[in-house]
Amino acid sequence: MDERELTGIGATPLSGIGTARWYRPDADLALPDPDPEGDGESDADFDPATERERFENARERAREDLETERDRARERVGEGESEIFDAHIQFLGDPQIESGVSEAIEGGYGAEHAVQRAFEEPISQFEGMDGRMAERADDLRDVRDRLLRVLLDRERTDLGGLPEGTVLLADRLTPSDTVQLDPEQVRGFVTATGGRTSHAAIFARSLAIPAVVGVGDALSEIEEDEEIAVDGEEERIVVSPGAATRERMKRSENVDTRSEPVSTADGEEIEIAANVGRPTEIEGAIDRGADGIGLYRTEFLFLDRDAPPEEDEQRETYADALDTFPEGRVVVRTLDVGGDKPIPYLDLPGEENPFLGERGIRRSLDPDGELFETQLRALCRAAGSGEGELCVMVPLVAAIEEFEDARERFEAVLADLDREGIEHARPAFGVMVETPAAALMAGELAERADFLSIGTNDLTQYVMAADRGNERVTGLHDPRYPAVLRAIRSTVEGAQGTGAWVGMCGEMAGDPALAELLVGLGLDELSTSAVTIPEVKAEIEGIDRERATALAERALGATTRAEVSDIVTRKEVQDT
Ligand code: PEP
Ligand code: MG
Repeated sequence: MDERELTGIGATPLSGIGTARWYRPDADLALPDPDPEGDGESDADFDPATERERFENARERAREDLETERDRARERVGEGESEIFDAHIQFLGDPQIESGVSEAIEGGYGAEHAVQRAFEEPISQFEGMDGRMAERADDLRDVRDRLLRVLLDRERTDLGGLPEGTVLLADRLTPSDTVQLDPEQVRGFVTATGGRTSHAAIFARSLAIPAVVGVGDALSEIEEDEEIAVDGEEERIVVSPGAATRERMKRSENVDTRSEPVSTADGEEIEIAANVGRPTEIEGAIDRGADGIGLYRTEFLFLDRDAPPEEDEQRETYADALDTFPEGRVVVRTLDVGGDKPIPYLDLPGEENPFLGERGIRRSLDPDGELFETQLRALCRAAGSGEGELCVMVPLVAAIEEFEDARERFEAVLADLDREGIEHARPAFGVMVETPAAALMAGELAERADFLSIGTNDLTQYVMAADRGNERVTGLHDPRYPAVLRAIRSTVEGAQGTGAWVGMCGEMAGDPALAELLVGLGLDELSTSAVTIPEVKAEIEGIDRERATALAERALGATTRAEVSDIVTRKEVQDT
């Protein structure tokens, strides 16, 4: 049978091949229509007291199950991720839902229908919101279905006991579904809905399971038992994969992990570090051979909670990361909220153009100055307790004045800690280069900074004026455009002779096909998702600096993306 391909969003850049098994948890929860006339009144005749008691019992049972699952998640994916189950427990006691259920029972509905009706409005409210808030609709559905399953006495499919070699297909997977999956049994999962930041995608990364999400309605055409290749790296799935597809996947599965730092063929060491968002991801990074952490996205420490973490809690988290890499570097980015990263308790303003609005350092200077100061204090204290080298990086700098202001606050924090006699040390202080302004002013920034790290996800978005989250302009959001390469070159050149090192921590750094180009452009460090580290390290060992420089020169002289791609894939530089 011929191969068929469906595209989606790669949740992990891993691949796996296995047998399709559909998971349709909603199918057995369909309820008969209690109001066929549509007059708003139930035709059935229920005793409200009995129905209320049934609801209360179901709620109690659901709460117990959630507590068990939370404990299991804590063990398997970590403390931070397990907090989602506490959020589900809170939804169970939500007053809006509780009064919705009571009203429906008073209106003559049985407990099952009352639950279904009470969740309708909150689910549609969340569905109307953007980004992570929209994903809360999935959490509510999960809680609703859990209650219905208890009321209807339907067992959940045991996703922890799937046959080996399964590729799980579903419309959506909830956090409690995903956390049950065993990477030893499951070769991957594919969902029709979901985005890169949905909990299913986040858990897939933590569990290192190949996953493609957001495939759309076409997923429903795949039948049970068909053979499926999940290709997270290429963001696609292949039904009935042929020999060439299998071979390609086998190659990407069989990369050896190098736990030592790697050097190019002519002996130059290039640091390959990991991008992480949560403490639990650090272990996976070490397993895959990370030399350090090149980007610690601290906003994840601030998400899914009611208030920001205190100074002591942050100090401990950063010190733990530092202790994990006694010989390496840990680059912690200060809070980068705004844009597509809302935090409910920070009360971010609704903006017409959030990516061009109050985000990153702009907020940290004002109005989140206090949070910034607390974070800087925690970081300087952590630097004084750990063995590794701590680097503090500020995101989304566009003006020299912003970095100078941030630096002044950093110096003030150091002076305060000195005065207070609190143990601390001075971390390196650097700039994340992700705006064209910062790339153009890299020389002036590097004179004031200890290092620069290029965030190509945002840099590409701003250089190409192409929203990184909008699939309609995804073709333009590609770092292989010569304009993006020239912005990178401008950054590296600007830093030359200043003593500042230059790294890269955007997704571009994790593409092994671009490793030679990046070495040729003069980067000292590449930081990427842990799962791609082995491939990037393997690639570095085969690179010759002189050849790489020539390749980069040719790419910088190219006019189109196609030319750059051609140069990179054919590596046609040796005889020029
Ligand atoms: C980037 O913009 O390239 C980056 C690494 O940061 P984030 O993806 O967190 O915006
Ligand atoms: Mg960014």
